[in-house]
Amino acid sequence: MKGQMKKAAAFVMAFALCIGLGMDAGAVTIDEAEKKADQLEEEKQAAEEEKANLTAQLNQIISDMNETEKKLSEKEAEIEAAENELVQAKIDEDNQYQSMKKRIKFMYEGGNAQFLEILMESKSIGDLLNKAEYVSLLSAYDRDMLTEFQNTVKEVEEKEAALQEEYADLNELQDQLAAQQTEVQQLVNSKEAQIAEIQDEIQANSETLEKLKEEAEKAKRLREEQAKAAQAAQAAQSGSGVSAPASGGTVVSGSGYFTHPCPGMTYQSSYFGEVRSFDPTPHKGNDYAAPTGTPTYAAAAGTVIQAGWSNSAGNWVVINHGNGLVTKYMHHSSICVSSGQYVEKGQQIGYVGSTGQSTGPHLHFQVELNGVAVSPDSYM
Ligand SMILES: [Zn+2]
Repeated sequence: MKGQMKKAAAFVMAFALCIGLGMDAGAVTIDEAEKKADQLEEEKQAAEEEKANLTAQLNQIISDMNETEKKLSEKEAEIEAAENELVQAKIDEDNQYQSMKKRIKFMYEGGNAQFLEILMESKSIGDLLNKAEYVSLLSAYDRDMLTEFQNTVKEVEEKEAALQEEYADLNELQDQLAAQQTEVQQLVNSKEAQIAEIQDEIQANSETLEKLKEEAEKAKRLREEQAKAAQAAQAAQSGSGVSAPASGGTVVSGSGYFTHPCPGMTYQSSYFGEVRSFDPTPHKGNDYAAPTGTPTYAAAAGTVIQAGWSNSAGNWVVINHGNGLVTKYMHHSSICVSSGQYVEKGQQIGYVGSTGQSTGPHLHFQVELNGVAVSPDSYM
Protein backbone atom coordinates (compact mmCIF):
# COMPACT_ATOMS: atom_id res chain seq x y z
CA MET A 1 0.00 0.00 0.00
CA LYS A 2 1.23 3.47 -0.76
CA GLY A 3 2.24 5.50 2.25
CA GLN A 4 0.09 8.54 1.58
CA MET A 5 -2.96 6.50 0.80
CA LYS A 6 -2.45 4.56 3.97
CA LYS A 7 -2.11 7.75 5.94
CA ALA A 8 -5.27 9.19 4.36
CA ALA A 9 -7.17 5.97 5.08
CA ALA A 10 -5.98 6.01 8.68
CA PHE A 11 -7.12 9.63 9.00
CA VAL A 12 -10.55 8.81 7.58
CA MET A 13 -10.87 5.86 9.93
CA ALA A 14 -9.80 7.95 12.92
CA PHE A 15 -12.27 10.62 11.91
CA ALA A 16 -15.07 8.09 11.48
CA LEU A 17 -14.22 6.75 14.93
CA CYS A 18 -14.39 10.26 16.40
CA ILE A 19 -17.79 10.88 14.80
CA GLY A 20 -18.95 7.50 16.08
CA LEU A 21 -17.81 8.31 19.60
CA GLY A 22 -19.41 11.76 19.39
CA MET A 23 -22.73 10.20 18.55
CA ASP A 24 -22.40 7.65 21.35
CA ALA A 25 -21.62 10.40 23.85
CA GLY A 26 -25.00 12.00 23.04
CA ALA A 27 -26.53 8.54 23.48
CA VAL A 28 -28.78 9.24 20.49
CA THR A 29 -28.47 8.14 16.91
CA ILE A 30 -30.41 9.57 13.98
CA ASP A 31 -32.53 6.39 13.93
CA GLU A 32 -33.30 6.69 17.63
CA ALA A 33 -34.16 10.38 17.33
CA GLU A 34 -36.48 9.68 14.38
CA LYS A 35 -38.15 6.84 16.27
CA LYS A 36 -38.58 9.13 19.28
CA ALA A 37 -40.14 11.82 17.08
CA ASP A 38 -42.79 9.35 15.87
CA GLN A 39 -43.43 8.17 19.43
CA LEU A 40 -43.81 11.74 20.73
CA GLU A 41 -46.24 12.62 17.92
CA GLU A 42 -48.34 9.58 18.90
CA GLU A 43 -48.26 10.58 22.56
CA LYS A 44 -49.25 14.13 21.67
CA GLN A 45 -52.15 12.93 19.52
CA ALA A 46 -53.40 10.66 22.32
CA ALA A 47 -53.20 13.54 24.80
CA GLU A 48 -55.07 15.84 22.38
CA GLU A 49 -57.83 13.23 22.07
CA GLU A 50 -58.08 12.94 25.86
CA LYS A 51 -58.20 16.71 26.13
CA ALA A 52 -60.99 16.85 23.52
CA ASN A 53 -63.00 14.29 25.55
CA LEU A 54 -62.48 16.25 28.74
CA THR A 55 -63.40 19.51 27.05
CA ALA A 56 -66.64 17.91 25.79
CA GLN A 57 -67.37 16.77 29.36
CA LEU A 58 -66.61 20.24 30.64
CA ASN A 59 -68.92 21.82 28.06
CA GLN A 60 -71.71 19.42 29.09
CA ILE A 61 -71.24 20.35 32.75
CA ILE A 62 -71.27 24.06 31.92
CA SER A 63 -74.43 23.60 29.87
CA ASP A 64 -76.04 21.70 32.82
CA MET A 65 -74.98 24.48 35.15
CA ASN A 66 -76.56 27.11 32.92
CA GLU A 67 -79.79 25.14 32.87
CA THR A 68 -79.74 24.74 36.65
CA GLU A 69 -79.01 28.41 37.03
CA LYS A 70 -82.09 29.17 34.91
CA LYS A 71 -84.22 26.83 37.04
CA LEU A 72 -82.88 28.45 40.18
CA SER A 73 -83.88 31.92 39.06
CA GLU A 74 -87.33 30.61 38.02
CA LYS A 75 -87.65 29.02 41.45
CA GLU A 76 -86.57 32.25 43.10
CA ALA A 77 -89.35 34.08 41.24
CA GLU A 78 -91.89 31.46 42.30
CA ILE A 79 -90.73 31.68 45.92
CA GLU A 80 -90.99 35.46 45.83
CA ALA A 81 -94.53 35.18 44.47
CA ALA A 82 -95.42 32.64 47.16
CA GLU A 83 -93.99 34.89 49.86
CA ASN A 84 -96.10 37.81 48.64
CA GLU A 85 -99.13 35.55 48.46
CA LEU A 86 -98.50 34.39 52.02
CA VAL A 87 -98.15 37.92 53.31
CA GLN A 88 -101.39 38.85 51.60
CA ALA A 89 -103.15 35.79 53.04
CA LYS A 90 -101.98 36.71 56.50
CA ILE A 91 -103.17 40.27 56.03
CA ASP A 92 -106.56 39.00 54.82
CA GLU A 93 -106.75 36.63 57.75
CA ASP A 94 -105.89 39.29 60.27
CA ASN A 95 -108.31 41.80 58.73
CA GLN A 96 -111.06 39.22 58.91
CA TYR A 97 -110.18 38.38 62.50
CA GLN A 98 -110.10 42.02 63.62
CA SER A 99 -113.43 42.85 61.98
CA MET A 100 -114.96 39.68 63.42
CA LYS A 101 -113.73 40.58 66.90
CA LYS A 102 -115.29 44.06 66.62
CA ARG A 103 -118.59 42.62 65.37
CA ILE A 104 -118.73 39.92 68.08
CA LYS A 105 -117.80 42.41 70.80
CA PHE A 106 -120.63 44.66 69.68
CA MET A 107 -123.06 41.72 69.42
CA TYR A 108 -122.21 40.24 72.79
CA GLU A 109 -121.78 43.43 74.73
CA GLY A 110 -123.35 42.85 78.10
CA GLY A 111 -123.65 39.11 77.34
CA ASN A 112 -121.17 36.33 78.07
CA ALA A 113 -118.32 38.26 79.69
CA GLN A 114 -116.03 35.26 79.83
CA PHE A 115 -116.41 34.56 76.12
CA LEU A 116 -115.62 38.21 75.35
CA GLU A 117 -112.59 38.08 77.54
CA ILE A 118 -111.29 34.94 75.82
CA LEU A 119 -112.04 36.45 72.41
CA MET A 120 -110.06 39.58 73.24
CA GLU A 121 -107.17 37.64 74.70
CA SER A 122 -106.87 35.34 71.68
CA LYS A 123 -103.87 36.43 69.66
CA SER A 124 -104.97 34.73 66.45
CA ILE A 125 -107.80 32.81 64.86
CA GLY A 126 -105.92 29.58 65.56
CA ASP A 127 -105.69 30.48 69.21
CA LEU A 128 -109.42 31.17 69.37
CA LEU A 129 -110.46 28.07 67.39
CA ASN A 130 -108.43 25.89 69.77
CA LYS A 131 -110.64 26.92 72.59
CA ALA A 132 -113.24 24.40 71.39
CA GLU A 133 -115.92 25.00 74.06
CA TYR A 134 -116.33 28.55 72.75
CA VAL A 135 -116.28 27.85 69.04
CA SER A 136 -119.94 26.81 69.19
CA LEU A 137 -120.71 30.33 70.34
CA LEU A 138 -119.45 31.74 67.02
CA SER A 139 -121.82 31.97 64.15
CA ALA A 140 -121.47 29.32 61.45
CA TYR A 141 -120.49 32.09 59.03
CA ASP A 142 -117.64 33.31 61.23
CA ARG A 143 -116.48 29.77 61.84
CA ASP A 144 -116.39 28.94 58.11
CA MET A 145 -114.70 32.23 57.19
CA LEU A 146 -112.06 31.86 59.86
CA THR A 147 -111.33 28.25 58.89
CA GLU A 148 -111.10 29.21 55.23
CA PHE A 149 -108.66 32.06 55.88
CA GLN A 150 -106.61 29.82 58.09
CA ASN A 151 -106.50 27.06 55.45
CA THR A 152 -105.41 29.54 52.82
CA VAL A 153 -102.53 30.69 55.00
CA LYS A 154 -101.57 27.06 55.65
CA GLU A 155 -101.71 26.17 51.94
CA VAL A 156 -99.55 29.13 50.97
CA GLU A 157 -97.09 28.29 53.73
CA GLU A 158 -96.86 24.70 52.52
CA LYS A 159 -96.43 25.86 48.96
CA GLU A 160 -93.60 28.17 49.95
CA ALA A 161 -91.92 25.46 51.98
CA ALA A 162 -92.07 23.12 48.99
CA LEU A 163 -90.57 25.83 46.79
CA GLN A 164 -87.83 26.44 49.31
CA GLU A 165 -87.06 22.72 49.33
CA GLU A 166 -86.87 22.62 45.52
CA TYR A 167 -84.67 25.68 45.61
CA ALA A 168 -82.33 24.00 48.10
CA ASP A 169 -82.17 20.89 45.88
CA LEU A 170 -81.30 23.02 42.85
CA ASN A 171 -78.63 24.82 44.86
CA GLU A 172 -77.17 21.48 45.89
CA LEU A 173 -77.17 20.33 42.25
CA GLN A 174 -75.47 23.56 41.24
CA ASP A 175 -72.82 23.04 43.91
CA GLN A 176 -72.18 19.51 42.61
CA LEU A 177 -71.92 20.78 39.05
CA ALA A 178 -69.50 23.49 40.15
CA ALA A 179 -67.36 20.86 41.90
CA GLN A 180 -67.43 18.71 38.75
CA GLN A 181 -66.53 21.72 36.65
CA THR A 182 -63.54 22.45 38.87
CA GLU A 183 -62.44 18.82 38.69
CA VAL A 184 -62.76 18.52 34.92
CA GLN A 185 -61.19 21.93 34.39
CA GLN A 186 -58.19 20.74 36.41
CA LEU A 187 -57.97 17.62 34.23
CA VAL A 188 -58.12 19.79 31.10
CA ASN A 189 -55.39 22.04 32.54
CA SER A 190 -53.09 19.14 33.38
CA LYS A 191 -53.74 17.64 29.94
CA GLU A 192 -52.78 20.97 28.39
CA ALA A 193 -49.61 21.04 30.49
CA GLN A 194 -48.82 17.49 29.35
CA ILE A 195 -49.34 18.48 25.71
CA ALA A 196 -47.08 21.50 26.18
CA GLU A 197 -44.41 19.22 27.71
CA ILE A 198 -44.65 16.79 24.81
CA GLN A 199 -44.47 19.73 22.41
CA ASP A 200 -41.26 20.89 24.15
CA GLU A 201 -39.83 17.38 23.84
CA ILE A 202 -40.79 17.28 20.16
CA GLN A 203 -39.00 20.59 19.65
CA ALA A 204 -35.86 19.49 21.52
CA ASN A 205 -35.81 16.15 19.72
CA SER A 206 -36.22 17.81 16.35
CA GLU A 207 -33.29 20.11 17.16
CA THR A 208 -31.18 17.10 18.17
CA LEU A 209 -32.17 15.30 14.99
CA GLU A 210 -31.27 18.29 12.86
CA LYS A 211 -27.89 18.60 14.60
CA LEU A 212 -27.19 14.89 14.13
CA LYS A 213 -28.09 15.12 10.45
CA GLU A 214 -25.84 18.16 10.05
CA GLU A 215 -22.97 16.33 11.78
CA ALA A 216 -23.52 13.26 9.61
CA GLU A 217 -23.58 15.43 6.48
CA LYS A 218 -20.40 17.24 7.60
CA ALA A 219 -18.68 13.90 8.31
CA LYS A 220 -19.75 12.59 4.91
CA ARG A 221 -18.35 15.68 3.14
CA LEU A 222 -15.08 15.36 5.05
CA ARG A 223 -14.80 11.69 4.14
CA GLU A 224 -15.38 12.56 0.49
CA GLU A 225 -12.76 15.33 0.64
CA GLN A 226 -10.28 12.97 2.29
CA ALA A 227 -10.92 10.30 -0.34
CA LYS A 228 -10.45 12.90 -3.09
CA ALA A 229 -7.22 14.14 -1.46
CA ALA A 230 -5.95 10.57 -1.21
CA GLN A 231 -6.74 9.98 -4.91
CA ALA A 232 -5.00 13.23 -5.85
CA ALA A 233 -1.96 12.25 -3.80
CA GLN A 234 -1.86 8.88 -5.52
CA ALA A 235 -2.17 10.48 -8.96
CA ALA A 236 0.58 12.99 -8.13
CA GLN A 237 2.82 10.22 -6.91
CA SER A 238 2.49 8.04 -10.03
CA GLY A 239 2.43 11.00 -12.42
CA SER A 240 5.14 13.41 -11.37
CA GLY A 241 7.92 11.09 -10.31
CA VAL A 242 8.30 12.94 -7.06
CA SER A 243 10.04 10.76 -4.53
CA ALA A 244 8.28 9.77 -1.38
CA PRO A 245 9.65 7.42 1.19
CA ALA A 246 8.13 3.96 1.33
CA SER A 247 6.59 3.32 4.70
CA GLY A 248 6.24 -0.36 5.34
CA GLY A 249 4.02 -2.95 3.76
CA THR A 250 5.03 -5.20 0.89
CA VAL A 251 3.60 -5.82 -2.55
CA VAL A 252 3.95 -9.42 -3.59
CA SER A 253 2.52 -10.88 -6.77
CA GLY A 254 2.63 -14.41 -8.11
CA SER A 255 3.78 -17.52 -6.26
CA GLY A 256 7.36 -17.71 -7.50
CA TYR A 257 10.55 -17.11 -5.55
CA PHE A 258 10.54 -13.59 -6.98
CA THR A 259 7.63 -11.23 -6.87
CA HIS A 260 7.20 -8.96 -9.90
CA PRO A 261 9.41 -5.92 -9.31
CA CYS A 262 7.08 -3.56 -11.22
CA PRO A 263 3.48 -4.82 -11.12
CA GLY A 264 2.31 -1.31 -12.09
CA MET A 265 3.98 -1.56 -15.53
CA THR A 266 2.14 -0.69 -18.72
CA TYR A 267 3.78 -3.46 -20.74
CA GLN A 268 7.05 -5.43 -20.99
CA SER A 269 9.11 -3.52 -23.54
CA SER A 270 12.09 -5.90 -23.73
CA TYR A 271 13.03 -9.50 -22.85
CA PHE A 272 16.08 -11.23 -21.41
CA GLY A 273 18.36 -12.33 -24.24
CA GLU A 274 16.75 -10.02 -26.81
CA VAL A 275 19.17 -8.57 -29.38
CA ARG A 276 18.19 -5.03 -30.15
CA SER A 277 19.23 -2.89 -33.13
CA PHE A 278 21.17 -0.38 -31.07
CA ASP A 279 22.95 -2.94 -28.80
CA PRO A 280 25.16 -5.73 -30.15
CA THR A 281 25.02 -7.76 -26.93
CA PRO A 282 21.90 -9.70 -25.90
CA HIS A 283 19.73 -7.88 -23.34
CA LYS A 284 20.73 -8.87 -19.82
CA GLY A 285 17.36 -8.36 -18.21
CA ASN A 286 13.66 -7.60 -18.64
CA ASP A 287 12.48 -4.04 -19.34
CA TYR A 288 9.13 -3.03 -17.86
CA ALA A 289 7.73 0.17 -19.37
CA ALA A 290 5.78 2.17 -16.76
CA PRO A 291 4.88 5.79 -16.10
CA THR A 292 7.48 7.77 -14.17
CA GLY A 293 6.81 7.41 -10.45
CA THR A 294 5.41 3.86 -10.61
CA PRO A 295 6.73 2.04 -7.53
CA THR A 296 9.39 -0.69 -7.85
CA TYR A 297 9.78 -3.53 -5.35
CA ALA A 298 12.46 -5.92 -4.12
CA ALA A 299 11.91 -9.21 -5.96
CA ALA A 300 12.93 -11.15 -2.86
CA ALA A 301 14.22 -10.48 0.63
CA GLY A 302 17.86 -9.52 0.85
CA THR A 303 20.44 -6.89 1.64
CA VAL A 304 20.81 -3.73 -0.41
CA ILE A 305 24.44 -3.62 -1.49
CA GLN A 306 24.15 -0.72 -3.90
CA ALA A 307 21.70 2.21 -3.88
CA GLY A 308 22.86 5.24 -5.81
CA TRP A 309 23.93 6.70 -9.11
CA SER A 310 25.49 5.10 -12.17
CA ASN A 311 26.04 6.79 -15.52
CA SER A 312 24.68 3.80 -17.40
CA ALA A 313 22.12 2.42 -14.88
CA GLY A 314 21.02 5.81 -13.56
CA ASN A 315 19.54 5.57 -10.02
CA TRP A 316 19.94 1.90 -9.36
CA VAL A 317 19.57 -0.66 -6.59
CA VAL A 318 21.36 -3.98 -6.22
CA ILE A 319 20.12 -6.59 -3.75
CA ASN A 320 21.99 -9.68 -2.60
CA HIS A 321 19.70 -12.60 -1.82
CA GLY A 322 22.44 -15.02 -0.84
CA ASN A 323 23.34 -18.36 -2.43
CA GLY A 324 24.92 -16.44 -5.34
CA LEU A 325 21.61 -14.80 -6.32
CA VAL A 326 21.60 -11.03 -6.97
CA THR A 327 18.99 -8.68 -8.50
CA LYS A 328 19.60 -5.28 -10.12
CA TYR A 329 17.05 -2.50 -10.68
CA MET A 330 17.90 0.40 -12.98
CA HIS A 331 16.88 3.86 -14.33
CA HIS A 332 14.80 4.96 -11.26
CA SER A 333 13.60 8.55 -11.01
CA SER A 334 14.34 8.18 -7.29
CA ILE A 335 15.10 5.39 -4.86
CA CYS A 336 13.90 4.93 -1.32
CA VAL A 337 16.31 2.41 0.17
CA SER A 338 19.95 2.78 1.09
CA SER A 339 23.07 0.64 1.08
CA GLY A 340 23.31 -1.94 3.86
CA GLN A 341 19.55 -1.96 4.41
CA TYR A 342 17.72 -5.27 4.68
CA VAL A 343 14.55 -5.38 2.56
CA GLU A 344 11.59 -7.73 2.60
CA LYS A 345 10.25 -9.45 -0.49
CA GLY A 346 7.90 -6.91 -2.14
CA GLN A 347 9.23 -3.92 -0.15
CA GLN A 348 9.28 -0.75 -2.19
CA ILE A 349 12.76 0.31 -3.29
CA GLY A 350 12.10 3.21 -5.66
CA TYR A 351 10.09 4.85 -8.45
CA VAL A 352 10.29 4.19 -12.17
CA GLY A 353 12.23 6.79 -14.15
CA SER A 354 14.43 7.17 -17.21
CA THR A 355 17.79 8.02 -15.66
CA GLY A 356 21.13 6.78 -17.07
CA GLN A 357 21.21 5.21 -20.55
CA SER A 358 17.50 4.99 -21.18
CA THR A 359 15.13 6.00 -23.98
CA GLY A 360 12.00 6.27 -21.85
CA PRO A 361 10.63 5.55 -18.34
CA HIS A 362 10.98 1.85 -17.53
CA LEU A 363 12.51 -0.51 -14.98
CA HIS A 364 15.43 -2.63 -16.13
CA PHE A 365 15.30 -5.77 -13.97
CA GLN A 366 18.32 -8.00 -14.07
CA VAL A 367 18.96 -11.30 -12.27
CA GLU A 368 22.43 -12.76 -11.80
CA LEU A 369 23.41 -16.14 -10.47
CA ASN A 370 27.06 -16.32 -9.40
CA GLY A 371 27.82 -13.20 -11.46
CA VAL A 372 26.09 -14.38 -14.65
CA ALA A 373 22.90 -12.76 -15.96
CA VAL A 374 20.04 -15.28 -16.16
CA SER A 375 16.40 -15.01 -17.23
CA PRO A 376 14.30 -13.39 -14.50
CA ASP A 377 11.28 -15.32 -15.75
CA SER A 378 12.54 -18.60 -14.32
CA TYR A 379 12.33 -17.11 -10.80
CA MET A 380 8.93 -15.47 -11.12
ZN1 LIG B 1 17.19 -2.89 -20.08
